[in-house]
Amino acid sequence: MNAILIDWQNIETVFLDMDGTLLDLHFDNHFWLEHMPKRYAEKHNISVEQASNALSQKTKAIEGSLDWYCLDYWEKSLNMNIVELKHEVADRIAIRANVIEFLDYLRGMNKRVVLLTNAHHKTIKLKFGYADIEHHFDHIITAHDVGLAKEQNGFWQALEKIEDFSKTQSLFIDDNLDVLNAANDYGVKHLLAIHQPDSQQPTKDTQGYIPIECYTQLMSS
Ligand SMILES: [Mg+2]
Repeated sequence: MNAILIDWQNIETVFLDMDGTLLDLHFDNHFWLEHMPKRYAEKHNISVEQASNALSQKTKAIEGSLDWYCLDYWEKSLNMNIVELKHEVADRIAIRANVIEFLDYLRGMNKRVVLLTNAHHKTIKLKFGYADIEHHFDHIITAHDVGLAKEQNGFWQALEKIEDFSKTQSLFIDDNLDVLNAANDYGVKHLLAIHQPDSQQPTKDTQGYIPIECYTQLMSS
């Protein structure tokens, strides 16, 4: 696998997404596309297919907004205990290969390491209960603190109010191309994508962004 050369000397802050970037997106896809439809179907006494259709209609309407990522919104809208349902399949929550080694590598270089996620506080708490990763971050920021989702206009400007950083001396890694595009528009200088966010799904076309296949690619320079 080719090394990805990073200008570490000129990077102060490393912003890292959580789901699909540090953690396997398989859990989230499995939860929303298989487990939720099953439980929703049971609750409403309909087929799993009907449940899938109903849920995808509800999600499409608000995709990419903060509500879409908000557990409180879904618990209210679906009248179901989503956290409890997530615990049922939590054995699928997994840290991606070489992530801990990469986080140690960043620590060794004295970089400021910031988790920057759209996930809701309750989801973060749940994931940290199954994935031992929390202590690797200098700051944990969710879009729900910022007030906008990462793919929304104005997100990075709003982020400036809660995190002191230089956009030309920041590296940001995310698996969502809309999110990377918003960061690029704002002017974050170093951007990387993820080649295969979900270990059970095919690899992804990351368009103009350099895809990380394995974190060891970043640790050679
Ligand atoms: Mg992600």
